[in-house]
Amino acid sequence: MSNPYRWLEKSLETIHRANWYRSVKTIAGRGGAVVELEGKMVINFASNDYLGLAGDSRLIEAAVQAVREYGTGSTGSRLISGHRPLHQQLERAIAALKQTEDALVFSSGYLANLGTIAALIGARDLILGDQYNHSSLKNGAILSGAKTIDYLHNNLEDLESKLKQYRPHYRRCLITTDTVFSMDGDLCPLLELLQFAQDYEAMLLVDEAHATGVMGATGAGCVEHFNCTGAELIQVGTLSKALGSLGGYVAGSKVLIDFLRNRAPSWIYTTGLSPADTAAALAALHIVQSEPERRSTIFENVKFIKENLINQFEILPSESPILCLKVDSPKMALDYGQKLYDCGIFLPAIRPPTVPTSRLRLTVMATHELSHLEYLRSKLLG
Ligand code: PMP
Repeated sequence: MSNPYRWLEKSLETIHRANWYRSVKTIAGRGGAVVELEGKMVINFASNDYLGLAGDSRLIEAAVQAVREYGTGSTGSRLISGHRPLHQQLERAIAALKQTEDALVFSSGYLANLGTIAALIGARDLILGDQYNHSSLKNGAILSGAKTIDYLHNNLEDLESKLKQYRPHYRRCLITTDTVFSMDGDLCPLLELLQFAQDYEAMLLVDEAHATGVMGATGAGCVEHFNCTGAELIQVGTLSKALGSLGGYVAGSKVLIDFLRNRAPSWIYTTGLSPADTAAALAALHIVQSEPERRSTIFENVKFIKENLINQFEILPSESPILCLKVDSPKMALDYGQKLYDCGIFLPAIRPPTVPTSRLRLTVMATHELSHLEYLRSKLLG
């Protein structure tokens, strides 16, 4: 009998040959603008810690206090024995930031998307999703069992023609999109999507993972950036990027959140978020609102990089701290990434199958200093 696992090696060989192989790299100590990566100090342009809060002493202190008071684990699912006052405080704080009636905290942003989509949509329904949506939106659609169709990236004509063609044949419809696209940095056309949702009687779910804490005057995200606060829609996000913790959330109407508490499998059948993560996210939300200068610094840094690299590199259209420098092939992306690493810059190559075309993806943080940006410029242009 042949070994049923042999195909794994062959499959890995194929991945290697295509230059698609990926492996983890170890960072010692806390994340930050400068980190020790595999024993070498590097300037970090690969972090989602946009506001620089993951190593902030106030978050650390909040997490330590929570562990002292509540222990390390929440010990059960939220509906049974895993609900703590901290969860309620965090959900209230998210709803306050988002100006929604309520919010619900999940163990990750990925699980928030999976559970929300699976709860809202079923086999008789339709999902129309942007082709560049995050994996969690795509897998949520698969889990739901609904008819799922991708529309071309940010292409309203394509979306409308698909709504016209398919919407009449399905019971419910859900449009899904990232608000800040994670591998490109551009924004979704939120106002038009809200209009379509109204015209075609569709629900709209937006993933604010990269927008929370970063976009909008108070850091409430792209919904605020586009002046759509108060619009009827489903907002999902993460606590693990600008908020420097771990976990995900859904914000929306009271009835939506009540429904999810009763129907979202990835919330009901999993252990409540740990006290440390919950408290750290809560502390981060206070800082998001009380220190708006962190957001201003991010966008000053973005401006510097755009202005200084625009003549040498094609930068994909972006209105966020995610900037992508286009390169011609996976190999070129890897070579560039390695060359920069050798100079002490961590700026990873992103290749297919994660994205359709290879690129160097750079994320800008509030804690990057001018000297970091100038060094990056000198090495990229040199
Ligand atoms: N949505 C988007 C757009 C993301 O980029 C990510 C994280 N890469 C997630 C959801 C998942 O969030 P989390 O890391 O909290 O699972």
